[in-house]
Amino acid sequence: MLLTLTRTLQQQNIPVYPELSRRGGHLWLFTEPLNGSFARRFGKQLLAEHHLSDVELYPKQDQLVSGPGSLVRLPLGIHRLTGRKYHFITPDGEPLAPTFREQITLLASPALVPFGFIMSLLAKTLPSAEAPKPTPEHKPTSPAGHTLSERIKARISVLDFISQYVQLDAKHTGFCPFHDDQKQSFSVNMEQNYWHCFAGCSGQTVIDFWMLWRAKHGQDGSFTATIKELREMLF
Ligand SMILES: [Zn+2]
Repeated sequence: MLLTLTRTLQQQNIPVYPELSRRGGHLWLFTEPLNGSFARRFGKQLLAEHHLSDVELYPKQDQLVSGPGSLVRLPLGIHRLTGRKYHFITPDGEPLAPTFREQITLLASPALVPFGFIMSLLAKTLPSAEAPKPTPEHKPTSPAGHTLSERIKARISVLDFISQYVQLDAKHTGFCPFHDDQKQSFSVNMEQNYWHCFAGCSGQTVIDFWMLWRAKHGQDGSFTATIKELREMLF
């Protein structure tokens, strides 16, 4: 199963590393530093798309917790009971490199899964609760009855608002203004009207964006102060 996935991904030029284990194998994917919850979402989506259900996924937790855990495992393990060593292999089952030392050298700077591939899978995993709801058809013509935050969100699209502050390319992707971003982790989904930073700065509405923006610039990033300013800016 994992070897099928290995071949499929390698045909798509996604570098992956199969490793033997006592009960079968592991498949390693190396990435740029990635928020744990996104790594898990990416992994789950990858398994779902390839109809793999009984595969254990690491990391096991979304974030570090205190005390010993099974957050991650390490490669090139020696089994505690059998003393057997397990190595990385090619899709044909041959050792990836003849000796462990050479495998370690090779894996010291592994080929990374392209960030675009991670993002394309993550984009499919945003829980619908997080994605802004489409405006109902029966909305009243007068804004009466709408909360201020709903009126703000209806007033301007996330793309139009954020484009004024973040340089976005044709795919609406750019450098995240909220962390030291080298990877263009920031993107706006125009169809579903939300923003997102895949490095873990979260994201959703115009209001969330402006709360973080204000906080970053030394202003009060509370919800109340933010919608007050947005009301003055937009109405
Ligand atoms: Zn970010």
